[in-house]
Amino acid sequence: MLALWDIDGTLLKSEHAGIHAMLEALHDLHPGRSFSFDGVEVSGRLDPLIYQELAARHGIPGDDDSHATFRARYTERLRARLAARNTVRVLAGVVDLVSALHDHADWEQGLLTGNYEPTGVLKVIHAGLDPDHFRINAFADHGTTRRHLPPVAIKRFHQVTGSAVPPERVVIIGDTPLDVDCAHHNGCRCLAVATGIHPADELRAAGADLVVDDLSDVAGILRWLQA
Ligand SMILES: [Mg+2]
Repeated sequence: MLALWDIDGTLLKSEHAGIHAMLEALHDLHPGRSFSFDGVEVSGRLDPLIYQELAARHGIPGDDDSHATFRARYTERLRARLAARNTVRVLAGVVDLVSALHDHADWEQGLLTGNYEPTGVLKVIHAGLDPDHFRINAFADHGTTRRHLPPVAIKRFHQVTGSAVPPERVVIIGDTPLDVDCAHHNGCRCLAVATGIHPADELRAAGADLVVDDLSDVAGILRWLQA
């Protein structure tokens, strides 16, 4: 069995450290210009797409080299920002649920996230979580939309463990309708948690298999996961 965790709004919240660091990176690379996220949808989206949208809106280059430069500068800025003031906090129940699944012989865990790999790992570390507990990862660098990421993780599961996991034994844990969509598009289950900006009703309407207000009922969630 495989549990794939979204990061922002699911494992942790960061007081928008990522958005602030992205803006700092854009200002570094384009001095004198002003940038904003007004009207840019970030929730559940992949970082490279967010960059493309910002580039198009602000008339800056969106080519691969410019994107790579931005990605590197954003990583530096996020690292410095979190070192100066760690605004990341782990959400209710996460430490216990990750730890319970880690101790369980039947489960592997991974990250399935719109974050770039280095910035996603930075956030996880600053939440006080052990990144080594997440062995089966699919980051924003591995696909163009979220729907592309579960097959990446399923392939990685095979590489790491030597055995295959059918999609119906994969659970995606996320906080947005896009997490639900990427799970069901790939035949996986979705545990949706209303700790992001999307209320439980919206996640239920999106068709999540289980919706919880937060992850604090670890025993109940484990029972559902094992069912
Ligand atoms: Mg999220």
